[in-house]
Amino acid sequence: MSLPFNKPHLTGKEAHYMYQAVLAGKLSGNGEFTKRCQAWFEARYGFRKTLLTTSGTDALEMCAMLCELKPGDEVIVPSYTFVSTALAFLREGANVVFADSMKRNPNLDAELLESLITPRTRVIVPVHYAGVACDMDAIMAVAEKHHLLVVEDAAQAIDSYYKGKPLGSIGHLAAFSFHETKNITAGGEGGLLVVNDERFVRRAEIIWEKGTNRAEFFRGEVNKYGWVDMGSSFLPSEVNAAFLWAQLENIDEIQAKRRQLWEHYYERLLPLAQRGCFSMPDLPDYATNNAHMFYLVFPDYEHRTAFIKYLKENGVGAVFHYLSLHSSEYYKSRHDGRELPECDRYADCLVRLPLFYDLSLEEVDKITDLIHQYYAT
Ligand SMILES: *Cc1c(COP(=O)(O)O)cnc(C)c1O
Repeated sequence: MSLPFNKPHLTGKEAHYMYQAVLAGKLSGNGEFTKRCQAWFEARYGFRKTLLTTSGTDALEMCAMLCELKPGDEVIVPSYTFVSTALAFLREGANVVFADSMKRNPNLDAELLESLITPRTRVIVPVHYAGVACDMDAIMAVAEKHHLLVVEDAAQAIDSYYKGKPLGSIGHLAAFSFHETKNITAGGEGGLLVVNDERFVRRAEIIWEKGTNRAEFFRGEVNKYGWVDMGSSFLPSEVNAAFLWAQLENIDEIQAKRRQLWEHYYERLLPLAQRGCFSMPDLPDYATNNAHMFYLVFPDYEHRTAFIKYLKENGVGAVFHYLSLHSSEYYKSRHDGRELPECDRYADCLVRLPLFYDLSLEEVDKITDLIHQYYAT
């Protein structure tokens, strides 16, 4: 057996739409496919305004620019996340204050938020780990009380919900990723900025278009365009938007297949979880499952390391995930020294199993059989 951890999925229409984009003769950003994708997100999820970006990291950087941070302003970010969640705000001169995860799942623990807030706190950045919602009512209540902005890092959270509300629609701003490891890809790299608060719409378009009011010019709202603010080049090419469009057209099928694989893992591994070998993903009542990831949490680092080694020897690409950012080489000397035990536990004990569209139920059977054999001896 040789099963990779991830394999990007093609729906079959990607090359067709990419060719259409080429034939249309306009390949730079903000063309027909970009507009089509953005309109799709706005209609399906009720996002106020969306802008495609070249990556999820770029969408987070746009969020950070829109927050207009001053040196010394503080941004609360979970430590158990991808580098970009913190980096986007650090680049804008903010101090990142790392938060611990919950015991039940790796999401930021909303009950600890009050203890992290100071007069300098400006933003909270919940990350919906594995596409499972953070407790957004609790987070939004703290934000409202202290007049903070909320930026959802929804990189993994496409087509997932909190109490019936789409993730990415609750905070003032949100970022999605279409990297090849996510459920939907824009051809390897891609992202989406979501603006839910009207106040940020105009400036988001300007930042997206290198600090110019070009978007307004193209809509005929001004008769010339020029440099009006900060910005950068955050637009993806039409080739990437065309690729993304082929995936969006098939999103229901992609999500249904992933969910079926996820549930198959869950059922097959439940007896071992009940025996205490490891714990499985815990979905709170308020969250849906977009089947972004299937993970197990082991009792300790040694168990996890031996488990990954065993699967690797049997041709299965199981992998661990984040190292806590507060103890990373780059950040550890800047961290305020608080211990974040849950983040460290996930860093040491979590394993992700292969989960991608082209995986079959029979392959999940083979993987879970291997795991059962491991615990039979
Ligand atoms: C993937 C990911 C990102 C970054 O997205 P890119 O498109 O790879 O730049 C940021 N945050 C989280 C939580 C992610 O999973």
